Amino acid sequence: MHEGLIIKGISGFYYIKADSKIYECKARGIFRKDEIIPTVGDYVEFSISDEEKLTGIIEKIKPRKNFLVRPPVANIDKLITVFSVESPAPDLMLLDKLIIKAAEIGIKPIICINKIDLSPNGFEAIRCYENAGFETLFVSAVKGIGIDNLKEKMKDKVSILAGPSGVGKSTIVNALNINVSVKTGDVSNKINRGKHTTRHVEFFEIESGGYIADTPGFTALGIERIISDKLKNLYPEFQENVNKCRFTGCTHISEPNCGVKEALNNNKIDNGRYERYIEIYKTIKENERYHK
Ligand code: GDP
Ligand code: ZN
Repeated sequence: MHEGLIIKGISGFYYIKADSKIYECKARGIFRKDEIIPTVGDYVEFSISDEEKLTGIIEKIKPRKNFLVRPPVANIDKLITVFSVESPAPDLMLLDKLIIKAAEIGIKPIICINKIDLSPNGFEAIRCYENAGFETLFVSAVKGIGIDNLKEKMKDKVSILAGPSGVGKSTIVNALNINVSVKTGDVSNKINRGKHTTRHVEFFEIESGGYIADTPGFTALGIERIISDKLKNLYPEFQENVNKCRFTGCTHISEPNCGVKEALNNNKIDNGRYERYIEIYKTIKENERYHK
């Protein structure tokens, strides 16, 4: 039995990277019966049908450490949220939602700020994320600044990029140097085009190690499924102050004697981030009421 990683799946065919080769495989019928569908990102065991034609059959899917439903990808290590210092200005609401989304999948986000060449000092609002302990990275994809650092963080991991259009995601992917020797189908074409018309997920292998999942359609959608009372736990900067809250279940919104609000008044917690927390909380709460 051989082991490999599904890097692409198209209409019942799975492309498995194993020992620097790519095998075109079909899945055994048993998966469908168990309602487990092999997914890009799955580590699998497969048997080789024809070593010359590089074809095989997937026999077993290894347990997944996480799973993203839309678009379907398994075993993601890093979510890299991409924004730019300017053109367009960072959408911090989207950033906060992507951080929540990462927590929902169970992965740590890296906040990557591109186009640092346009504004070398970055921007003030990013401070609160740094202070809260989030990993932040300033890069310029066109000038090549910070790209080695980014590669280092992605080394031997499976990462996905997320962020609004125009922030430079395609430019970053190009700057990472995709290993063209293992490209499948029209990969290089697709990268160069920068825009994606297809909806399936595909992995690109980075020369320096690791994979980047091309995830068209990845958004912060679905965070309203998070339980409203759990939302506050996803804000590390709140956690440092909850021991001062009078009520154990304090949501830090309207309760008296709240440690988080005290920290807010002492400028220890960023006002913008707190206000966006309330807005997200209300959206989630409304959604819960609606689905009761
Ligand atoms: P995407 O929509 O997120 O994939 O963004 P693109 O990669 O298509 O980039 C959008 C625009 O920003 C293009 O005109 C790029 O040339 C430009 N761009 C990308 N990275 C940088 C950068 O580091 N600095 C500057 N000044 N422009 C950049
Ligand atoms: Zn509180």
